Amino acid sequence: MNIAIDGPAGAGKSTIARLTAKELDFVYVDTGAMYRAIALYLIDNQTDIENEDALKAALDQIHINIVYESGVQHVFLDLQDVSTEIRSEKVGNMASKSSALAPVREKLLDLQRDIAAKNDVIMDGRDIGTNILPNAELKIYLTASVGVRAKRRYDELILHGENPDLEEIKKGIEQRDYQDMNRAIAPLKQAEDAVLIDSSDMSIAEVVDKIVSLARQK
Ligand code: C5P
Repeated sequence: MNIAIDGPAGAGKSTIARLTAKELDFVYVDTGAMYRAIALYLIDNQTDIENEDALKAALDQIHINIVYESGVQHVFLDLQDVSTEIRSEKVGNMASKSSALAPVREKLLDLQRDIAAKNDVIMDGRDIGTNILPNAELKIYLTASVGVRAKRRYDELILHGENPDLEEIKKGIEQRDYQDMNRAIAPLKQAEDAVLIDSSDMSIAEVVDKIVSLARQK
């Protein structure tokens, strides 16, 4: 069985998908982490992403490996586990830019479909229900207001020992929403057959319960 969860940055997709996967004994696949790993490489190697040849040459050098340890996804660039490094705002903002480019999306399409074909997955991202897994048995579009999402991201960064600015985060989220929703290829949007969940006034447990019960009905 495949469950797709799409939605904007900071809607709580990863936390909710992880807990739901645990409850259902599914594999949780975080596709944003794959885009982030590519973004990290592009930053570290100062790749000019506007230059198609340079971008393609860089993508040829990138070998992403996804490993699951006790249900937790680890992302490797070659042999290096970059799971923690990719969580910064800088990498997230670059991921939002570079994920709009066709060669970047093509590189990850087969990897994502392959994992879903071999496992019961709950996969989160931006185009899972619309593009990657159009036949997923259950599709969720998870969103929340910009203010709520900014505050959640802020709290998360504080927990990671960073020193964030709430207004900056809000601006970053708005910019990412705009980029993700207005790009030409695989933009973020709700699939026609997706269930809309607005988590602004819901607890994590409430959202998880709702998705688990929808999944069990299927
Ligand atoms: O979800 P996360 O914030 O980790 O994703 C980082 C960026 O990767 C997003 O802003 C989005 O541009 C891109 N992404 C995407 N398609 C996905 C998952 C993430 O374009 N399936």
